[in-house]
Amino acid sequence: MATSLDASLTPAAPTNPLAAAIVATLVQRIGKDEKAARPHDWLAATILTVRNDIIQRWMESTRDAHAKGAKRVYYLSLEFLIGRLLRDALANLGQTGEIAEALKTLGVDLAEIEEIEPDAALGNGGLGRLAACFMESLASLDLPAYGYGIRYVNGMFRQRIDDGYQVELPENWLQHGNPWEFERRESAYFVGFGGEVVGTETGHVHWKAGEAVEAIAVDTPMVGWRGKRVNTLRLWTARAIDPLRLDRFNDGDFEGALAGQLRAETLTRVLYPNDSTAAGQELRLRQEYFFSSASIQDIVRRHVQYTGDIRLLPDKAAIQLNDTHPAVAVAELMRLLIDFHDLGFDEAWDVTRRTFGYTNHTLLPEALESWPLPLFERLLPRHMQLVYAINAKLLREARSLGSDDNAIKAISLIDEAGERRVRMANLAFAGSHSVNGVAALHTDLMKQTVFADLHRLYPDRINNKTNGITPRRWLFEANPGLTGLIRDAIGPDFCNDVDRLSGLETLADDSAFQSKFQAVKRSNKVVLSQWLKAQMGLRIDPDALFDVQIKRIHEYKRQLLNIIETVALYDQIRSHPERDWTPRVKLFGGKAASSYHNAKMIIKLANDVARRINADPAIGGLLKVAFVPNYNVSVAEKMIPAADLSEQISTAGMEASGTGNMKFALNGALTIGTLDGANVEIRDHVGAENIVIFGLTADQVAEKRAQGYNPRDYIERSPELGQALSAIASGVFSPDDPDRYKGLIGGLYDGDWFMLCADFDAYAAAQREVDRRWNDRKAWNQSTIRNVARVGWFSSDRTIREYAKDIWGVL
Ligand SMILES: *Cc1c(COP(=O)(O)O)cnc(C)c1O
Repeated sequence: MATSLDASLTPAAPTNPLAAAIVATLVQRIGKDEKAARPHDWLAATILTVRNDIIQRWMESTRDAHAKGAKRVYYLSLEFLIGRLLRDALANLGQTGEIAEALKTLGVDLAEIEEIEPDAALGNGGLGRLAACFMESLASLDLPAYGYGIRYVNGMFRQRIDDGYQVELPENWLQHGNPWEFERRESAYFVGFGGEVVGTETGHVHWKAGEAVEAIAVDTPMVGWRGKRVNTLRLWTARAIDPLRLDRFNDGDFEGALAGQLRAETLTRVLYPNDSTAAGQELRLRQEYFFSSASIQDIVRRHVQYTGDIRLLPDKAAIQLNDTHPAVAVAELMRLLIDFHDLGFDEAWDVTRRTFGYTNHTLLPEALESWPLPLFERLLPRHMQLVYAINAKLLREARSLGSDDNAIKAISLIDEAGERRVRMANLAFAGSHSVNGVAALHTDLMKQTVFADLHRLYPDRINNKTNGITPRRWLFEANPGLTGLIRDAIGPDFCNDVDRLSGLETLADDSAFQSKFQAVKRSNKVVLSQWLKAQMGLRIDPDALFDVQIKRIHEYKRQLLNIIETVALYDQIRSHPERDWTPRVKLFGGKAASSYHNAKMIIKLANDVARRINADPAIGGLLKVAFVPNYNVSVAEKMIPAADLSEQISTAGMEASGTGNMKFALNGALTIGTLDGANVEIRDHVGAENIVIFGLTADQVAEKRAQGYNPRDYIERSPELGQALSAIASGVFSPDDPDRYKGLIGGLYDGDWFMLCADFDAYAAAQREVDRRWNDRKAWNQSTIRNVARVGWFSSDRTIREYAKDIWGVL
């Protein structure tokens, strides 16, 4: 019998039914009551409650695909840079309001618990974020699709800035558990490594692996817009087949008993903090094969289960390789078809080619993956045989079509120059019926450079699919103020079809709308200012121009060009304080690969420059500089809606597409950029008068390099550049260590591969052009409204429709 004391300890049951459901989940699944619950408990209980609704739709989506016998899309990617999921799922389900209301009756603030959800940072940058946008668009377009990748225990490192230097800390995103995921113990596959290839009595070839691990599927639901479809992101985690060796344990060897488990777990422990150079490590190749093999086994199992005929695979499955990281999947499918499904080599090759598509993401030679042949052969002896066989067929075909010796060398799957290596890009190209670039310029350059000879051989294979971003996350969720303004102005139809943003076109000249548009931007800037103040004690003026460069730190992206121009501007403001300077806040953010020295020095320089400028009373707050730590999806969602100026200033020809550029334009920032990647197409869409383009074109960069580029010619001719470089190199910003930047700046004098010096004057002039435009605020608003009205085309829905029609044959 309950006493009155017990009753006072038991909270009254909530009357709001959703609140009651959340509390019930809290009690039953988390094991706490309302009084004991901490924010993380509320977060978990909320996610689990929302998930209940998602599961119904998820199972319906799967049943529907089965019933229709639909062709499925499989997106293989070593990276999925998803970010937080709660806000995204709620927005797509249209449940944000109800859940916020329910939580409010419990005294819990939805925004607060959304903010403590860890970012699922299973990627480095653009390539991984593209995979996440694609998963969302696939579900939103009601296409049955699976994403396949690795469930890293430690995703992208957390970046702390200590005394201006980047410090990398492990990102323990699973420390509070992950209420989104379902472990599927029934979906487990053996993945082998090493050993030898033997012939069997039946004449078959059999790979006897030297070791094996188990791949276990962990599924996360991917909710599409309006909750229409829920697809699956299937990430693999590694387990030892015999996790506890009891024999060893009983012999007293407790560590040895667990050694296998430890070794297996290492496979899915960390994401390589590197998106542009081959890690060159055995563990990386093991990761690639591990997830490719598990995924292909899963796809083949599902296909055979439903159709019974492996030859029909290309009719029922489209497998897309996101870059070459999963390229070994080509050889893995061949192995399964030949060794387990009795297909002849030619037939297996035909099935394989019709099933795969490959997306290329980089032309940088150092980023083209290749593996030393002895390593590949030792780890994957059966795949090595198949690569040789594929190569023989490929080169026979090439010769018969007239390729000369040089072409044969370039086409071969084996790089014979120096240490012999397996070229993963050539394997992916040969094994696919479609090879696509990610922006028009990038696709053209692919045809002219990396794949010139393969393109001559297979002129119909290369095609372009310009990247896109999901407007749900990058406009509706990140920028509710602007979304509301647009809805009030043109109605809600753009929410289902972002091309309808063109309805804003006529409002660009409407001064009442311009004022509202400017007010939304200002309030986003106030929010960001408050956040930066709380995070890093930075004080900035929301009325200054917010000039933002956030992306991976890399020399080709040229954050250094931006910093040098900042130094030159600082110098000019000091020399001519009487001039009418435009108040600016320069914001930088991004991570450097842990082994990339120059990128880390660029971070330190940004911080050194910031410290000096921000403390200088002589410039009266006209210029502020800050490096925002730990750039990730959630930080991007805060910064982009508050940006006035988007810095997209890579050396022309080096940025495959960029997607940050698209997010900024959609949120009403003006772009300052080179004619690189998707910037070219952004200019075509927004109009040359609504973007500030400067600098060398890709052709001019190539021409200059061929002619013998001398940066000193440019430094001598540009006093601003010369002074800024001398100031940095002589220690003006590093009085504690005057030689700190000798190496970094010396590199510009000796070579300057990324052509900062050649582009400096044009960039500085473009920045003054930005100032002029900013000072005519009416024209600025017009221009940025036109950007929003005209960039609907850069929705990942458009991109996915193109893949679906042209590559996958599912639309
Ligand atoms: C969009 C995005 C990127 C890609 O940015 P780029 O400017 O295209 O390099 C990288 N990281 C995060 C977190 C992003 O959201």
